[in-house]
Amino acid sequence: MRQGKSMDSSALLRLRGVVKKFGDFTALKGVDLDIVEGEFFTIVGPSGSGKSTLIRLLVGMDELTEGSIWLRDGRIDETPANLRPTCMVFQSLALFPHMTVGQNIEFPLKLRKEAPAARRARAEELLDLLRLPRSYYDKRISQCSGGERQRVALARALAFDPEILFFDEPLSALDYRLRKTLEKELKDLHARTGKTFVYITHSLEEAMVMSDRIAIMKEGHFEQIAVADEIYSAPVSRFVAEFMGEVNLFGLRADDAGLITSDILKIRAGVAVDNLDPGGHGLLMVRPEYVRFAGGERAFDFTLTGTLHGEYALGSRIQYEIETTGGMVTVEKLREDRLNASEGEQVTIGFDSAVTHFIREAT
Ligand code: ADP
Ligand code: MG
Repeated sequence: MRQGKSMDSSALLRLRGVVKKFGDFTALKGVDLDIVEGEFFTIVGPSGSGKSTLIRLLVGMDELTEGSIWLRDGRIDETPANLRPTCMVFQSLALFPHMTVGQNIEFPLKLRKEAPAARRARAEELLDLLRLPRSYYDKRISQCSGGERQRVALARALAFDPEILFFDEPLSALDYRLRKTLEKELKDLHARTGKTFVYITHSLEEAMVMSDRIAIMKEGHFEQIAVADEIYSAPVSRFVAEFMGEVNLFGLRADDAGLITSDILKIRAGVAVDNLDPGGHGLLMVRPEYVRFAGGERAFDFTLTGTLHGEYALGSRIQYEIETTGGMVTVEKLREDRLNASEGEQVTIGFDSAVTHFIREAT
């Protein structure tokens, strides 16, 4: 595992060797993590990778099998959920539909026996923060739209003024347009409140839009933790590379003299690849937007030839699939740079070492 930023001991939330077993099944395999105060930290991973299990431990809804969780200097993994005042889960579907917006937002404050006037003042402050009209105070949840309900749920989660907000796939049930709007609102809310957000999603796009750092989870462990750009451009494994969107991967090896060879790519003499040592091997990654159609004078470090198999319009971009002896290669172009070729035609594609990333494999 690789950390994108160096972590100091001032992490707000720290996990050390966290293991969670359900009978014989190990859902979390020794997780270490440092979350910095004020960051928007997102955990992404396929369904079943252990994301919800981890968040349940963090908020105290379940117990660890091994390891420890620290909030600043204090251990909190043995503190019951209701005594962890810094932690709240944002669950949009857990609103009380028969109650008003105001009653929902004030619910946690009522549990803590705050006076009605103070509760109301706080609720109005939160309506302002979430950009909902104050008149919504008396509106029933059942009369609110999906987007408004999400904002009420957020206001309720913020009622206690928690230091950390935890989110477990809050937008996954919403339609595309609303999801896109709320992604931006959440990012904006994060900036306005300065709070620490720990967010779980299986959608990489969502993670990319909002997060300061992203952790990629696979089968109960973190495969990589880094800023979004680094995860996209320098994944540590095939799993991360493929999880982070469309990608082309080519096997490369270097002989003992350092000469680089590939079964598929034609390599220009003298081309060097970062991190590929003599005798080593691994995967050369190039994202579709960096692959060019060759032709004319331009020589590339890596070239290959194939048959144009398909062309797909993706709004502002066009995606091409090229069938090669090494499998399908994906190329992406802006619409204005559309290729003048038809399906079944032979094409040569190329790219330079500078736009690649090499994933070293253990020898
Ligand atoms: P995610 O949120 O990433 O989709 P979960 O954390 O919910 O995944 O689940 C991770 C794994 O742990 C899954 O294989 C799931 O079946 C298993 N699991 C989760 N909760 C329990 C439980 N209470 N008992 C047994 N297995 C569980
Ligand atoms: Mg889950």
